[in-house]
Amino acid sequence: MLPLDDARSHVLGRVAPARPRPVALADAAGLVLADAVVANETVPPFDNTAMDGFAVVAADTDGAPVTLQVIGTVAAGAAATTVMASGQAMRIMTGAPMPPGADAVVMVERTIYDEGAGSVVVEIEVPTGNHVRGAGEDIKPGHELYPAGTQLTAGHLGVLASVGVRAVDVIPRPVVGVVSTGDELVDDGSRLAPGQIRDSNRRTLLTLLEESGFTAVDLGLARDDEAEIEKVFRDGADRCDAVLSSGGVSMGAFDYVKVVLDRIGDMRWMQIAIKPAKPFAFGLIGDVPVFGLPGNPVSSMVSYELFARPALRLMAGMRHPQPPTLRAISADPLGRHDDGKIHFLRVEGGPDETGRWTVHKLGGQGSHQLTSMAQATALAVVPDGVDIGAGDEVGIIPLGTLGT
Ligand code: AMP
Ligand code: MG
Repeated sequence: MLPLDDARSHVLGRVAPARPRPVALADAAGLVLADAVVANETVPPFDNTAMDGFAVVAADTDGAPVTLQVIGTVAAGAAATTVMASGQAMRIMTGAPMPPGADAVVMVERTIYDEGAGSVVVEIEVPTGNHVRGAGEDIKPGHELYPAGTQLTAGHLGVLASVGVRAVDVIPRPVVGVVSTGDELVDDGSRLAPGQIRDSNRRTLLTLLEESGFTAVDLGLARDDEAEIEKVFRDGADRCDAVLSSGGVSMGAFDYVKVVLDRIGDMRWMQIAIKPAKPFAFGLIGDVPVFGLPGNPVSSMVSYELFARPALRLMAGMRHPQPPTLRAISADPLGRHDDGKIHFLRVEGGPDETGRWTVHKLGGQGSHQLTSMAQATALAVVPDGVDIGAGDEVGIIPLGTLGT
């Protein structure tokens, strides 16, 4: 059996980030920058007020209260053209540009405005620059905003919008095809004939891909038939950046997936020292990565988390493709027998108000028992030879969080 880390390194070593392309800011959320972005503009673009109040000459407020002559109003969006002199003030609204000559703002709450008299009493002394947001305080032209490799979040996109960037060069989201294989599978809602089961893997895998921020393509169901399997894999490799299949990678007698992929691809067939998801195949058809996930429903999901998701994240340009392992307290004993494998147990739980996770072991840990996988909020990682008692710490991989 191949150690998990070796299998994962093998896979990650054979995939690479996709070719960059420009996308509009509106389509860039979650994508990774291919190049650094440098600001061409100044933010704020001009000196402006952080408060509603009165623009003043700071020195005029010495010995406040003082009365100043109000010579006009500047609203946000207006150009400040009136030049102010000592003894004068202007009403000013948050975001409005500072009038030339003014160097401070007194908040409206510390003033008494007499509209009829055209004057204002300023109650407090203010220093130069009071409540003034200086031009370029946040961003100056030529400043490198974000390096290549940054995954764009709402805040990043807001900053890019603030400097007038309308498109960015990013690593595109991988387009990933999903095919189920097996003669026993039914996907059309018809009554099950003896020996048949319904295809669930395609639904889970397509959904996992979409949840991870990739673009999922349904390649359908292929019978255990060489020609049909070849057609679906070739079609997938033509249309997609990667293909996920489930089924046909274990030791079964009618597993044509192996026959076909060995003929049209460059594959490695692995038995990995983990439970579930021991059988796994990975390779390339041309330059398109193919992930041969095991057919058992839980195994296909675990295999996705351990191999496919990190590899697809790497293809999407992410610098840290591996899932994080958090520490949790196991409320239940996670005893296991020694079999040379790392066991991934389905557990339910979450963080308390201090952020500390406590997890409970779920019943029904068979690799065909998908209900416990649906209920699980994490996989507990229990290495060979480790005996975890109730109240002990255990490593967990959180599941089901939206986003890559
Ligand atoms: P295989 O990897 O093809 O040997 O399949 C292992 C087990 O997973 C068998 O019990 C299959 O019936 C089951 N299985 C394979 N593909 C699917 C699928 N798409 N949905 C649900 N179960 C599946
Ligand atoms: Mg099969």
